[in-house]
Amino acid sequence: MKVIDLRSDTVTKPTPPMRAVMAAAEVGDDVYGEDPTVNRLEVLAAELLGKEAALYACSGTQTNLLGVMSHCERGDEYIVGQQAHTYKYEGGGAAVLGSIQPQPLDFEPDGTLNLDKVAAAIKPIDPHFARTRLLCLENTTAGKPLPLEYLAKASAFARERGLALHLDGARLFNAVVAHGVPVQEIARHFDSISVCLSKGLGAPVGSVLVGSKELIAKARRWRKVLGGGMRQAGIMAAAGIYGLQHHVERLREDHANARELARALSAIDAIKVDPAQTNMVFMHVAPAQAEALRGHLKQQGILIGAGSSVRMVMHLDVDDADVRRVAAAAQTFFH
Ligand SMILES: *Cc1c(COP(=O)(O)O)cnc(C)c1O
Repeated sequence: MKVIDLRSDTVTKPTPPMRAVMAAAEVGDDVYGEDPTVNRLEVLAAELLGKEAALYACSGTQTNLLGVMSHCERGDEYIVGQQAHTYKYEGGGAAVLGSIQPQPLDFEPDGTLNLDKVAAAIKPIDPHFARTRLLCLENTTAGKPLPLEYLAKASAFARERGLALHLDGARLFNAVVAHGVPVQEIARHFDSISVCLSKGLGAPVGSVLVGSKELIAKARRWRKVLGGGMRQAGIMAAAGIYGLQHHVERLREDHANARELARALSAIDAIKVDPAQTNMVFMHVAPAQAEALRGHLKQQGILIGAGSSVRMVMHLDVDDADVRRVAAAAQTFFH
């Protein structure tokens, strides 16, 4: 029986053609700047997103940290969502390793940060306060693509207030596909963007940070300091190139599968299901039933995350037949 793993879109395995380009990748020492495949990935990512330069790193946690550490100095501050990956799910890296203070604010229901609340959180220039330098957004956040008009407002706001603007675009291309716009239509608003190659794009490892030449030069130094300088990394970068070239358009299938799963599950009275906007379905189960449901699905080879607000993520290794199997398995549980 095929295991259907809906815990995250990080669980995908490289496809045979992706493995073929990895096996054939030309490599060199990337710390010396001599890995031709890493260099090709960095040029491709920078061009695609309309930025001067890019940097390949081992994870999105690292590219976010490199972004924050390259915009901010010790004693500076970044404003970020309370539930944002860059604040909550990265081990406090900016504070621990960068001496950079986070100022978290609650996300609005649509995943934006209210700019009036951001304005109120900016500290005056005064020795009492950390220096507010950076605003971080996340797109998509909890499966929600940020509204395009909001991005324009946020970028005008950041410019006016002298803040840099970083995007945790772990799932940027899901937002791109959801809005049906070229990626630069989103990217142009930001000074730096971190993009995961290892989620919907299907690479086994890796993320890229894009921004100005100056910013990426700083980030390259911090990457080495953090122990993130990799050597013949072209084998992995080749998978990233393949993902950017072949796995963006197919994100539509993940979104269609998510909509279909949400539709099928919403017929079950015992649970509440949010409408799917990209590749994630959120199902709210009575806390007393959550563990039993997880066990029931597991027995049928279906893996879901912990908790009673269950996130189910569509990806490269989940097809429409799998979606029908998941819906049927949930229906038998609640029957
Ligand atoms: C996955 C993810 C990241 C990066 O995670 P890594 O596992 O370190 O690659 C960053 N931001 C968001 C929103 C994510 O979902």
